[in-house]
Amino acid sequence: MITVEALSAREGDCFWVEWDDGPVRRRMLIDGGTRAAGRQSLARRLARQPVDAREFELIVGTHMDDDHIGGLTELLSSPPEAFRTRDFWFNGHQHLLPPDLLGPTLAHRLTDLLSSAGTPWNEEFGGAAVVLPADGDDPLPTVDLGGLTLTLLSPTWDGLRKLRTDWDRRLARRAPAAESGPADLLGGPRRSPSIPWHRLASEYSPDASPVNGSSIAFLAEDAADGTRVLFAADAHAEVLTASLERLPGRPVDLCTVPHHGSPYNVSPELLQALDCRQWLVSTDGGRPVLRTEAVYRSGEGRHPSLRTMARLILASPRPTLWFNHRVASTARYADPFLAARLGFRAEYPLPGEDGIAVLVGPGTVTRAPTPD
Ligand SMILES: [Zn+2]
Repeated sequence: MITVEALSAREGDCFWVEWDDGPVRRRMLIDGGTRAAGRQSLARRLARQPVDAREFELIVGTHMDDDHIGGLTELLSSPPEAFRTRDFWFNGHQHLLPPDLLGPTLAHRLTDLLSSAGTPWNEEFGGAAVVLPADGDDPLPTVDLGGLTLTLLSPTWDGLRKLRTDWDRRLARRAPAAESGPADLLGGPRRSPSIPWHRLASEYSPDASPVNGSSIAFLAEDAADGTRVLFAADAHAEVLTASLERLPGRPVDLCTVPHHGSPYNVSPELLQALDCRQWLVSTDGGRPVLRTEAVYRSGEGRHPSLRTMARLILASPRPTLWFNHRVASTARYADPFLAARLGFRAEYPLPGEDGIAVLVGPGTVTRAPTPD
């Protein structure tokens, strides 16, 4: 069994993951959400953690976007008592180029914090980049965290090379990251009283963002019972699919929906490779980025996109959607008539809960007991 807590991470990700290694309870943290989320949700979660259980096997900053590493910079700036991690995965600028250039602000800050605190950094990869082998015939890297095995699925060297070019271009401009993905391609506003779910499901175009393409994504497998959880970050669907197709084809028990449900990161091929019916969606909606979807109802045009949700819902029988925020763009799936018509189930944080926690076993996902 693997417990996954999707903390309130604003528009980003922050997954607190625990599992049993025999009698030992182990944990890892994947991303820290935005800086505000780091100061609030993640800080509160750490404060609740007993002082003698604040050691992590691994912390991952999947890629340099603020909604993933912002909270990690807050954590490392003022770590709580007895906080420690055995390894920290983050592909910083020096993993891509000689260390003579400053990176975009937060990534540079995280780099500074990791260096000055002497945190073990990409240890499993000899201090070099966390990346798939350059030779596509070499096996996917696996890492044993004690009771949990991670298989790296993303990024590729090609993805890191594109990030390097993008990083330098942005440095020259000193501009923040543009919203990823191609511009909405569907033309001007059209008033529509009902949502054409089947048509939307068929509309896919790939994410071209170099930053998202540099995402560290992996499959986590419980050594005792074989439970499989895929942590997709904001990775490109094509990279995830190519990696998954190299693994034995067993269903994935739970998948974090790539890139907060952006329409550009969940392809039909990825859905087929995952063979998954339980989806964890981490977003508070973020900024409106999908103009053509805003025509359907106010509050739309944000993550998760209607197109991605349509694809997830229609790809498998009776999928379950687990949301860590109940906001306008996620609350529509609470409609029992829609759920009955399209055949899915939706779950949200309980009143007073900060995010949502699930217990994942082979073929089952249930709500994790609320901690005291
Ligand atoms: Zn993101």
